Amino acid sequence: MNLLYANDRRGEYPPSWYAATAVGAAERPPLRGTVRADVCVVGAGYTGLSAALHLAQRGLRVVVLEAHRAGWGASGRNGGQVGSGQRLDQDWIEARLGREDARHLWQIAEEAKALVRRLAADMPGTDWRPGVAHAFLHPSEVEAARRYADRLARDYGYEQIVPLDGSETAELLGTRAYVGGELDQGAAHVHPLNLALGLAVAAEAAGATILERTEVLALEPGQPATVRAQTGQVVADHVILGCNGYLGRLEPQVAARVMPINNFIVATEPLGADAPLSQPVAVADSRFVVNYWRQTPDGRLLFGGGESYGWRFPDIVATVRKPMLKVYPQLAEARIDHAWGGTLAISPTRNPCFLRPQPNVLSASGYSGHGVALATMAGQIMAEAIIGQTARFDVMARLPTPRFPGGTLLRHPVLVLAMTWFALRDRLGI
Ligand SMILES: Cc1cc2nc3c(=O)[nH]c(=O)nc-3n(C[C@H](O)[C@H](O)[C@H](O)COP(=O)(O)OP(=O)(O)OC[C@H]3O[C@@H](n4cnc5c(N)ncnc54)[C@H](O)[C@@H]3O)c2cc1C
Repeated sequence: MNLLYANDRRGEYPPSWYAATAVGAAERPPLRGTVRADVCVVGAGYTGLSAALHLAQRGLRVVVLEAHRAGWGASGRNGGQVGSGQRLDQDWIEARLGREDARHLWQIAEEAKALVRRLAADMPGTDWRPGVAHAFLHPSEVEAARRYADRLARDYGYEQIVPLDGSETAELLGTRAYVGGELDQGAAHVHPLNLALGLAVAAEAAGATILERTEVLALEPGQPATVRAQTGQVVADHVILGCNGYLGRLEPQVAARVMPINNFIVATEPLGADAPLSQPVAVADSRFVVNYWRQTPDGRLLFGGGESYGWRFPDIVATVRKPMLKVYPQLAEARIDHAWGGTLAISPTRNPCFLRPQPNVLSASGYSGHGVALATMAGQIMAEAIIGQTARFDVMARLPTPRFPGGTLLRHPVLVLAMTWFALRDRLGI
C-alpha cells in the first residue's frame, strides 16, 4: 500500500475548507525525459518548496518533483498553527544537548516563525493572525506551564506568554472544559494551503522549476545522483528529500526514523453568533491526542482531533465530532461542511529528523505536528547546507532521532501499541 494514494485521488487536493478557499492553485506539468539540475528536491510541501526558494534565490538550478500537486500533503491540510519553540521543550533539550545548543535551537525556532511571517506577508490569502492559546485539563498542567513560561522569560528572553485563569480561559474559548490556559502572543496561525501555494509561486519566481504528478520511484546515489520517476529522471549534484509522512521506503535510513500517522480536521457551517471563540486565536489543548481549533474569517469552527495509525482514514466526521462535542456540546446540531485528513511524520523522540543519508542527499522530516514553522525553516537550512553553511543543519541533526525499535517492519505495531496506551490515558483522564 502506498500512502500517496491510500486516501486520495491522483493529483487532486482533498475536500478541505483550505482547498475550497485556495488562491492560485495553478497546475504544473509532469517531468518528461532527462533533466540536469544542481539540486533535485523531492516533495512540494513547506520543506521542499522553501528549500527550492532559498536555493533558487542563490542562483542554483533547482527542479522540484511532486507526486500530486504543490501543497497537496500535510502542508495543505494542517491546523495552520505557527507554534513557538522546537517540538520538545527547552528543559528536555538542555538536559540532552547542553545550554549552547539549546539556545541555538530556540533561536532557530524563533527565526522559523519570523520566516513564515515574512513570507506570508507577500502571499495572497495566507491570513497571518497572531495568538495561540493552550488549554489545560489538570491544575498540575497549569502549574507546569506557568513555571515553563517564567523560565522562557528568564533564560530565553521570551515574554510573549500571558497566563489565563479558569474564567479567562472559559471566556476566551467559550467552554468550561478546561481549568486554565495561556496565550502565546508570539505564536500565530495561517491558511496553510495558501502558504504552500505562495511558496511555490515564490520559488518559481526565483527560478525554480516545479513538476507535478511526478512520483519519484527510486533514488540512485552517486555524484551526480539520479532521481527516477516513471516519465523521466533528474540527474542532480544534490538531492533534498521533503517527503515527510509520505516518504514510504524511498530512503531506508530516514524511513527507519520517522513514521506516518494520520490526523483529521472538520469545518462546520458558518456559526454566526454561536461561534465560540471570543478572539481570533488558535487553540490547542493538553490531551495526548491533541484537540486544536480556530475560527475562519466566515465564522466556521475548524476543529482538529483524533489520530489513526493505519493506512486508511476512518470515518472522519465521526472521529472528530466526538472530541469536538466534548469541548462544545452546544454544537451537536451544527452541520459539518468539510472533513479531511492528512498524514504527517513523527519520530520516536518527537524531535524532527535532519539526516544526511548520502554525502549529497539531505532530508528533513518527522516534525511531529510542529512543522508549519520548522519545515519552512528546514528548507532554508538545507539550502544553506548545500552551499556549505552547515552550522544550523548540524545543530538540528544533533536532536536525537533514534531508529524506531524493530525498524520499518515493526515500527508500526510497536507505535500503535504505545499510542493506543496514551490515547487510553487521555480517555481515562490519567
Ligand atoms: C491534520 C494535520 C494537522 C496539522 N497541524 C499542524 C499545526 O497546526 N501546526 C504545525 O506546525 N504542524 C501541523 N501539522 C504538521 C505539518 O503539516 C507538517 O509538519 C508539515 O506540513 C510538513 O511539511 P513537509 O513539506 O515536510 O511535508 P508535506 O507537506 O507532507 O509534503 C510532502 C510532499 O512530498 C510528496 N512526496 C512524497 N513522496 C514523494 C515521492 N516519492 N515522489 C514525489 N513526491 C513525493 C507528497 O506528495 C507531499 O506533497 C499537521 C499535520 C496534519 C496532517
